Amino acid sequence: MTHNGPILGSTRLTEEQLLLREAVRVLADERVAPRAAAIDREAEFPEDMRQLLAEHDVFAIPFAERHGGLGADLLTLVLAIEQLSRACATTGLLLAVQSLGAIPIQIAGTEEQQDRWLPGLASGEKLIAFGLTEPDAGSDPSGIRTRAVRDGDEYVIDGGKRFISHASVADYVVVFAVTNPEAEKPSRRLSAILVETDRPGFKVARIEHKMGLRGSPTAELAFDGLRVPVGNRLGEEGHGFAIAMQTFERSRPGIAAQAVGIAQGALEAAAAYANQRKQFGRPIGELQMIQALLADMDAATEAARHLLYTACDEIEAGNTHAARWAAIAKLVAGDTAMRVTTDAVQVFGGYGYIDEYPVERMMRDAKITQLYEGTQQIQRLIVARSLLARS
Ligand SMILES: Cc1cc2nc3c(=O)[nH]c(=O)nc-3n(C[C@H](O)[C@H](O)[C@H](O)COP(=O)(O)OP(=O)(O)OC[C@H]3O[C@@H](n4cnc5c(N)ncnc54)[C@H](O)[C@@H]3O)c2cc1C
Repeated sequence: MTHNGPILGSTRLTEEQLLLREAVRVLADERVAPRAAAIDREAEFPEDMRQLLAEHDVFAIPFAERHGGLGADLLTLVLAIEQLSRACATTGLLLAVQSLGAIPIQIAGTEEQQDRWLPGLASGEKLIAFGLTEPDAGSDPSGIRTRAVRDGDEYVIDGGKRFISHASVADYVVVFAVTNPEAEKPSRRLSAILVETDRPGFKVARIEHKMGLRGSPTAELAFDGLRVPVGNRLGEEGHGFAIAMQTFERSRPGIAAQAVGIAQGALEAAAAYANQRKQFGRPIGELQMIQALLADMDAATEAARHLLYTACDEIEAGNTHAARWAAIAKLVAGDTAMRVTTDAVQVFGGYGYIDEYPVERMMRDAKITQLYEGTQQIQRLIVARSLLARS
């Protein structure tokens, strides 16, 4: 892969952000990209990539210094996810999910809970997952059936989760369960509870076979009389829904970054191919219809990137419409990744459709960014509600 030093929105970045982005870019080009095709083909969790990110302090980025982290802001985290995903979306998700699972602890955990769990996550020694979705509760978390019933100093959890990224390899899962079924508002029925995955009653029921992100295990979980101390609850009882929504305000930019990274990777691969592939006696990059495709891909990727960086600044600055900023970033970046990767396959012609080149993998990986952490339809609902509330 080639380096695009002077572009990629460098002007607004601080010296530290530029240095960190460059370090992750080099790591991604030299160590991650050569593994990407095999990770996809083998569809196995890339433990070597987890070790690599741990050794290079990449997991430390979204954690406070007092927990062994780098104390970086949201934009810096996004830069790292973007660079990793440019080479391998599955490896980018390692960092995105580690942050996703940690956010409930960071926003709702007590100091003692943070000291207990965050250092292991910052070092990468421990992995965490985020367990919201259930078979009957995807876009609508009010369908959650998993129950956590108080029994003295413990909760007894029964139920299950579906589609939980990394839950089969994680040490902890933040489980959203019904603790207050009688609450009038559905949004006050849930609590967030950190579950250690080695507890009796925690079972990985199956791993999904997926179109893309194939090295990232997506697990179905079953909880049967799973006992967890009350001290593992994050925040107040009944605050789980609010914690989940606040988490998405900070995690959706990570998925948008994954999308921008995938789009950038596909754009670079397509441009390199257009320079080298000859038809009608000259490189296809000299054909204006190919140039138009490449130009639109470049413009759309850059636009999505800048929107994302602005969203990060707004969210970090405490914008009261943070949910809207997170949603528009994910909406635009996810749709951009899908379009750009599809067009990249077009630039490659038939070669784009076979696994000799990376763009078919990137196209399959791009699709998930329109689906998880809220589908594109749900992002549109959030943006529209925010707009209507302001008018
Ligand atoms: C690979 C993968 C990894 C995932 N990782 C995690 C994870 O780590 N943790 C976790 O908790 N979840 C995870 N998920 C779950 C993911 O967030 C959900 O799949 C997603 O939120 C959509 O829910 P659903 O699949 O049940 O679709 P549904 O909610 O059934 O939606 C079906 C269709 O209806 C549309 N729709 C639904 N409601 C509305 C509405 N009100 N207005 C308009 N359209 C609507 C949707 O946009 C979609 O097109 C993951 C999913 C996948 C595939």
